[in-house]
Amino acid sequence: MRVVIAEDDPISRALLETTLRRWGYEVAVACNGQEAFQTLRAPDAPRLAILDWMMPEMNGPDVCQALRQSEGGEYYYLILLTARGTKEDTVSGLEAGADDYVIKPFNMRELQVRVRCGERIVKLQSDLLAAQDALKIQATHDALTGLMNRAAVYDALEREQSRLARQGGCLSVVMLDLDHFKSINDTFGHAAGDAVLQDIAKRLDHASRSYDLVGRVGGEEFLLVMPNAPLSSAVEIAERIRHVIADTPVNIGARTLNVTASLGVASAVVPDERVSMDELVQAADDALYRVKGSGRNRVEAADSATSQA
Ligand code: GH3
Ligand code: MG
Ligand code: MG
Ligand code: MG
Repeated sequence: MRVVIAEDDPISRALLETTLRRWGYEVAVACNGQEAFQTLRAPDAPRLAILDWMMPEMNGPDVCQALRQSEGGEYYYLILLTARGTKEDTVSGLEAGADDYVIKPFNMRELQVRVRCGERIVKLQSDLLAAQDALKIQATHDALTGLMNRAAVYDALEREQSRLARQGGCLSVVMLDLDHFKSINDTFGHAAGDAVLQDIAKRLDHASRSYDLVGRVGGEEFLLVMPNAPLSSAVEIAERIRHVIADTPVNIGARTLNVTASLGVASAVVPDERVSMDELVQAADDALYRVKGSGRNRVEAADSATSQA
């Protein structure tokens, strides 16, 4: 665990540093409050700090207060060190945002258990944040392919529309559905079907542009959102994706399976055309189903007014 020590007195500072290192902490040293604040505000900074009260530039309580005001997701555990031991001092130190308070000359054993207590809180907090992040990923991504799930890609689409409504520009969507996928499951089993979906998802991810969004919106259906792509570019990218799928068979164990996809593309100019995102996706879906009706393994563009980007 990393700890910041802020202490202006060189002798106390050296003593604290040596002691904390002996206890197994990684120590970053600051000689005044300003330096401590900067160290703690740096990206990936330590979350545990021992701050002397009386320091030049910024005193300990000032550092506490400034950190609390700037706190983002992660918590700082702050211990104030001071010779000022009245009740009033304790109250004002804690009020400034300190978590704990140790009075000088401090007892080493007491300081150690208090620092350990802080360490526990910091660990708890970072475990909690990691769990929260994992849940967020779980809620927005498809477990099988790792792509965005349906809700997330539709949310992203709405956000793109709002962004373009302010900035102007065009937006294309591609709806992709694997051809005769049921027969892959029926012939080779559901696990083989899953492996095909994973392989295709990787190809979609690689073949799309870095600023395009790809989501799995149904069993073997994928939606690509292409900001700033006019219809002609979106059709080109969709054609490239069709080839990326059809030209290289999927290897499942010793087998190679030929997979193809049908793709429908639709575009809208935002905000000139007041097209809802549902209508845009529907237009791409309609184009896709025309492909399904006429042999599959093809790209078709929507032909309605929504497509005139
Ligand atoms: P079409 O060319 O008309 O699209 O035919 P299709 O067989 O691809 O379409 P259909 O809708 O008849 O079948 C889709 C199949 O996808 C049926 C379903 O069992 C399968 N499926 C859906 N989700 C999953 C999944 O997560 N894993 C696997 N292995 N199969 C899935
Ligand atoms: Mg001091
Ligand atoms: Mg389907
Ligand atoms: Mg299908």
